[in-house]
Parts: sequence; C-alpha cells; structure tokens
Amino acid sequence: MIIDCHAHILPPEIVGDLASFAERDPHFSLLTRTKNARFLTGEDLIRDMDDQGVDRSIVCGFAFKDTGISRLQNDYCAELMRSYPERIAFLAVIDPEAPGALAEVERCLSMGACGVGEIFPAGHGFDLQGGGMKKVAGLCREAGAVVLIHVNELVGHCYPGKGDVGPLAAYRFAVDNPGLTTIFAHFGGGLPFYAAMPEVKDLGHVYYDNAAQPLLYRPSVYLALKDLGILDKIMLGSDYPLLTWTRYVKEIASSGLREGEQEMILGRNAWIVFGKFFRSRAEGNRSQRQNTLD
Ligand SMILES: [Zn+2]
Repeated sequence: MIIDCHAHILPPEIVGDLASFAERDPHFSLLTRTKNARFLTGEDLIRDMDDQGVDRSIVCGFAFKDTGISRLQNDYCAELMRSYPERIAFLAVIDPEAPGALAEVERCLSMGACGVGEIFPAGHGFDLQGGGMKKVAGLCREAGAVVLIHVNELVGHCYPGKGDVGPLAAYRFAVDNPGLTTIFAHFGGGLPFYAAMPEVKDLGHVYYDNAAQPLLYRPSVYLALKDLGILDKIMLGSDYPLLTWTRYVKEIASSGLREGEQEMILGRNAWIVFGKFFRSRAEGNRSQRQNTLD
C-alpha cells in the first residue's frame, strides 16, 4: 500500500493561467519561476497514481495570501475527494494571517478536509508561533485534524523556496501544540536527526515527510532514522509533481531498510494518521447501493 501524504494539485483555471495567478502571490510566483516546476490537475494526479501504483494521496493546492484563491483550490480538492473518496483526502490551504483564513479553515473542516496544509511560514512571512497559526492549530486540534507545515534544512545548497524556518521553529511549534497531529515536511528541516535527544524523540504527535529527499539526502538517511528509532514517524510525501513516486520507492529500496520497514514509510505510518479520513471500500459499496436505491 502506497500513500502519499503531500501532493499538490491545482484547478484547471489556475494551471491554464499561471502567469496571472503568479502576479497575485509572491510566493506562488517564486514557485512558478522555479526551474522544471510543473503544475498539474487532480485528474493528472489520478492518472499518474494509477500508472505508478499509488493507492491513496492526501492532496492540497498552494496557499495564497488571497483567501479567495485558496478557497477556489480548496473547493477543487474537496470535489476530487468526493469523486474518489477511497483514494483522495485533502488538506485546506490558507495563509493563517490572511483575512478570512479562520472561516475558511472551519468551512473546509466541515466539508471533510483532514486538516490544513501545506503551510508556508517562510514563504508567506508569518510566525509559526503567531496569533493566526495559534487559532488554526486550535481549530485543527479540536476537530482531530492534521497540520502539514513546510520547513526546510538551514544548511547545504540553496534553491528557490528555501527559507529560514527550520528545525528550531518546528520544535517550538511542536512543544507549543501538544495533541495536534503535526507533519513537518522535508524531514522537518532536520528535526528528526535530533531524535537522540529524548525531548525530540518524545514528540508523540509529530511526524515527518520525506518530500524532496532524492534532491536533498542520500538514501542512507533512512538507515540513520532507523538507528534513531523513529522510522514510525516518517511518511512518504512526494511534493507531487516535483518528483515521481517511483523515484522515492527506488531510493527507499536501495537504502538498506528491510521490506517491512520500507512499507512503514511508503504507507503504513500514513495510514495510522490518515486512514480515518478515507472512505473504506465497504462504505463505498454501501453508498453506491444506496445511490442505486435512491
Ligand atoms: Zn509541498
């Protein structure tokens, strides 16, 4: 079972008019100007999942400072979830400090969003410990929902989108928000590599995805995480369409992890967190029968 906890899709009206949407959000503009950047729709994602044997994905758009454009994308993701309830769950995008953000989070949670993300604190210039994020975190905690936050490593080569929010900010957020299931993207900017420290290892509500691993870390990173005893915290997050799932599967297979350990990263860990947000096949059959009865 392969589950991707971090895939980006956009509605066709944004994919077809990237330049004018880029003018409306500096962070999105930066993403569109990144070398080899691609922007694909939900239907593209489903086709690619089928081609590469991916069972389920947690999708999101790209947060905009303009909550109206975030809302457009959230509606699109919700629609995809309704079309493929056994395979697609979605996270709501918002800039937590933007006008209307909280109402949008509440609206999305009531539509069945499994949480909020990907949140870009560096890209949108807000503080993870600030008032907006506190309120978003509170809503998600109460709803039993999840947050997915972009953080990155603060060392190594530079690339567009690499910001200054790293493992320290992630750690502070995690400590401030016990009981909120939190996934830090891109290996939490390195936070899990501190797991030899008990206070980092003991962050029971915190998970990390491996988004962009093949561009950042050698496959041996997975054995290091195993040695630190936190493989149960690591999830596949492709950052679709940045890299193919096949590439992640290959890198994980070449890491030296045993098959069962590879499966934890490829889907079992994500299922523990996100399983409740997917409709089961049995429920699908039931509601199909219901529809025919109707
Ligand atoms: Zn991402």
